[in-house]
Amino acid sequence: MIDNGHTPEPLISDADLATGIRENQFVMHYQPKIDTRTLEFVSVEALVRWNHPVLGVLMPDAFIPLAEQGKHIHGITDIVLETALRQSAQWRELGLDLRMSINISGASLEVPDLPERIHDVSSVFNVPADKIVLEVTETWQSRDTKTALDILNALSAKGFGLALDDVGTGHSNFAKLQSMPYSEMKLDKSHIHSATIDEDTRHFIAMCVELGHEMGMYVVAEGIEKQEQWEMMSAMGCDEAQGFFIARPMPGDQIPGWLKRWNTYLGLAEDHQRASGPHVNLDEMTGTFHRLNSIFPTKLDI
Ligand code: C2E
Ligand code: MG
Ligand code: MG
Repeated sequence: MIDNGHTPEPLISDADLATGIRENQFVMHYQPKIDTRTLEFVSVEALVRWNHPVLGVLMPDAFIPLAEQGKHIHGITDIVLETALRQSAQWRELGLDLRMSINISGASLEVPDLPERIHDVSSVFNVPADKIVLEVTETWQSRDTKTALDILNALSAKGFGLALDDVGTGHSNFAKLQSMPYSEMKLDKSHIHSATIDEDTRHFIAMCVELGHEMGMYVVAEGIEKQEQWEMMSAMGCDEAQGFFIARPMPGDQIPGWLKRWNTYLGLAEDHQRASGPHVNLDEMTGTFHRLNSIFPTKLDI
């Protein structure tokens, strides 16, 4: 690239975002989360993608930071909430009782009526508050404004779950965390990845799991890509796992089919377990899942 002293024009502009919101060019993908003890499919994380008419599909890192700089993040949050909770209601009609985790930008924690808005959308779609978890990244948590804390407390009082996302990337003050209303801690994928090769990181995340549990939080490991990471996090007592090893994010209409395949894995794993004795052998079961995952790969995320 020739350095001619000019900063290149950003790929997307504020005006693009405004059009994207007005024309609702956003779609949601959903990534399954599995209970590490029962191996049940219990929950999904909703992840936004932008079907840009010229640039194609854009991942959130390409537009959420820009949206957060201006006011457009609020329009995106509204679309995300409505789309994800409508989807949740559709699955519930099919008998799928999944918790729905929704990422909320820290910028939205400066909007005082956010709890009311989320409450209203969940009422419209009749999704119980305890089936909704709002994920906030650790980097925003450390800003710790009074409005943000009031909003988190109001959301918690309305019965919504609150997850502290990407733990290990920000500067959480664990002592202060104790007074925050988080019900869930999500360990960042970068730490999960290095923990299998680096002992210090392994100790760090083991400590996070323990602290999370001591504070009454549910602990989730994200970014599980390999069987050894699944096994390590299960052995540390992590409650839920999410990652490409289990499934990639996928469009909502693929979730019922994925559940069917997952239950096939479970059935086969149970047969396998019956044949090999009464004890749950996690190594053998996850091995079975892994082999079956490669037999029935989920459609790659775009
Ligand atoms: P996040 O909330 O931590 O979401 C998890 C990210 O990790 C997702 O990336 C997901 O696709 C990716 N991931 C899941 N499993 C694996 C794995 O095994 N390996 C690897 N390498 N990655 C994995 P995605 O969808 O690109 O989202 C990136 C971030 O953008 C999210 O991180 C979240 O902070 C933000 N985001 C996504 N959707 C929304 C949204 O609807 N609203 C807001 N405000 N932010 C969103
Ligand atoms: Mg998240
Ligand atoms: Mg995360």
